[in-house]
Amino acid sequence: STTATKTSTDSTDIKGDFTVTSFYEGREVWFVTGSQDLYGEETLAQVAEQSREVVRLLNESDLLPAPIVWKPVLKDSDSIKRAMLEASADDRVLGVISWMHTFSPAKMWIRGLEVLRKPLLHLATQANVEIPWDSIDMDFMNLNQAAHGDREYAYILTRLGLARATVVGHASQENTRRRVANWVRAAGGFAATNELCVVRFGDNMRNVAVTEGDKTEAERRLGVSVNTWSVNDLVAVVDAVDEGAIDALVAEYCERYDVAPELAPGGDRAESLRYAAREEIALRTFLEERGAMAFTTNFEDLGGLRQLPGLAVQRLTEAGYGFSAEGDWKTAVLVRAAKVMGEGLPGGASLMEDYTYNLVEGAEMILGAHMLEVCPSLTNARPRIEIHPLGIGDREDPVRMVFDAAPGRGVVVAMSDMRDRFRLTANIVNVIEPPQPMPKLPVARAMWIPEPDFYTSVEAWLTAGGAHHTCMSTQIEPEVWENFAALAHMELVVIDESTTRRDFASGVRWNQAYHRLAEGL
Ligand code: MN
Repeated sequence: STTATKTSTDSTDIKGDFTVTSFYEGREVWFVTGSQDLYGEETLAQVAEQSREVVRLLNESDLLPAPIVWKPVLKDSDSIKRAMLEASADDRVLGVISWMHTFSPAKMWIRGLEVLRKPLLHLATQANVEIPWDSIDMDFMNLNQAAHGDREYAYILTRLGLARATVVGHASQENTRRRVANWVRAAGGFAATNELCVVRFGDNMRNVAVTEGDKTEAERRLGVSVNTWSVNDLVAVVDAVDEGAIDALVAEYCERYDVAPELAPGGDRAESLRYAAREEIALRTFLEERGAMAFTTNFEDLGGLRQLPGLAVQRLTEAGYGFSAEGDWKTAVLVRAAKVMGEGLPGGASLMEDYTYNLVEGAEMILGAHMLEVCPSLTNARPRIEIHPLGIGDREDPVRMVFDAAPGRGVVVAMSDMRDRFRLTANIVNVIEPPQPMPKLPVARAMWIPEPDFYTSVEAWLTAGGAHHTCMSTQIEPEVWENFAALAHMELVVIDESTTRRDFASGVRWNQAYHRLAEGL
């Protein structure tokens, strides 16, 4: 979320003083442990102590974006229901992790699980790593019986048809910690869409199919509110920006980026950079006043704007806002979710567009970019701020940052409206250093080789009806998107190292039937 010095569009004095704070500040995950009264006070005290230790170990992980908070051991139906109602009602709670330390008869969990409105993780673990070979006796067996306690609990989760994630492993182990963190991050992304407002300046680009979608269904699935404003409402704010605020922002650009000499103060085209800064301040002000953390633009509907916003969009997405172009609110939502899910991790997240291929045999690769707006969180290099002509949009030459995305593993995700559901199509990609410089290409770009190979990937993507706009993230693992899709009850098809054409096409066909049946006929 964002806090700001209060500004007002009624004033002609917009100062542009903004700070974006961590999404996870003040948020937490609850950890509940299941047991029952049968065990007696001494054993239950050990259960409590050992579950505290599990929480302590999980909290040691650097990957966790929010703390896990231990809650008292649950022993009966009423206290379970009470705990689930409290978690559901508390805005700070991202989700609930549950573990059955001992045998917790699962009919006790039915009433509680049916009122739980937060993401649920079933952590199947135990206090000890190794069986104490020499000392093990029936007292030890009675205390450490998660192996069957977790099975009793999982039965009821499955019988209730509850969407949950399941992680098995010891809390001291890296794999367990990473997978728990992946789930917490997905819960964070889902919480973020559930409080997200997307501002659209204008509608979709004319005649485009895949950027359309059911905004009402999106609010039901993802909690996201998507609404349109006139771009001239933004122009009024652009016109009201204070000159001193522009001076300060231009100084910041000169400090943080390599500004082309013609754009720097005193340069021939310094006024163009000042106008880009004016757009950035106005956009931030407009979004903050509406509590919006994502937005879209449309080059066919620029009203009184003198430049198609390029640099302004790049700066806002660098600060954590979701964005997509041509009115594509679905990708803007994904970018915002990815920003939250990847917060604090190396890499970045951005709108990306599959643009053109290198089809040389043995060197097949995809070049992605957009007209202007790729987010600089994807690069480790110092971006250059440049100005070049752009036929699209029919306005003055727009200012933009130019850079190459840093090499590394990433995932691209697109959201398509399949009429009766949303489908996420994901592909694991390896971003590479471009084999040759492209000195005349005046936009930020990424070059990648998709998994499992170029041909299988592209054919599978086209079979799934995946969009040309994607959210590229180099911060999060595919499992985060898997958890996110499950929370939002969205279809997810993944193209990765194990994908084959035949199985993928078959999966897409089966999903078609499954999702129609799952929604009811
Ligand atoms: Mn586009």
